[in-house]
Amino acid sequence: MDETPPIVAGCCPKCGKKVIKTCKDYRCEGAMPTDKSCDFYISSLICNRRMSDNEISALLRGKTLLLDGFSKNDGKIFSSTLHIDQSGQIVVNSKIAVCPRCGGAVYVGTKAFNCQNQMAPEKCPFVIWRNYSGHELSLADIQGLCANGVTPDEVTMLTEDGKQYHKRLMLSPEKDKIIKI
Ligand SMILES: [Zn+2]
Ligand SMILES: [Zn+2]
Repeated sequence: MDETPPIVAGCCPKCGKKVIKTCKDYRCEGAMPTDKSCDFYISSLICNRRMSDNEISALLRGKTLLLDGFSKNDGKIFSSTLHIDQSGQIVVNSKIAVCPRCGGAVYVGTKAFNCQNQMAPEKCPFVIWRNYSGHELSLADIQGLCANGVTPDEVTMLTEDGKQYHKRLMLSPEKDKIIKI
């Protein structure tokens, strides 16, 4: 049998050794049957969603990812952010910003970013579609809109006949819709 080197996803956030793809997870070299000096691993399946090698690598580089296609055991599909916290635990978090209208939490949904108080008696109308003129809003975009009222950078959008153009997105003064600047 040929010995091919293992697939390395990145460095262990706990001990700095390599994180290797195994048959069921991504595991620190120090958390193997032969070396038990560390206990870090990430399951390949998080909330019933299979993680890609690139996603695991980004998490190991300290990135927070906005991902779709998670599901609960009752089959309900949801979107969420993922990151690795300081203790080396994977954190699944759908709460991504503070609502600029009411101060409630903004959650990422499958189609939009929604204020938690959308259904509350005082109904907060804050909702931002995740896809805006052909641009898929990133986590940095929505967090910039909620915290500063504007995206940190220009985004690439498309016209109805497919031409690309670049503008920053800003919240209207009433904070109920997006305007392009
Ligand atoms: Zn380790
Ligand atoms: Zn709100």
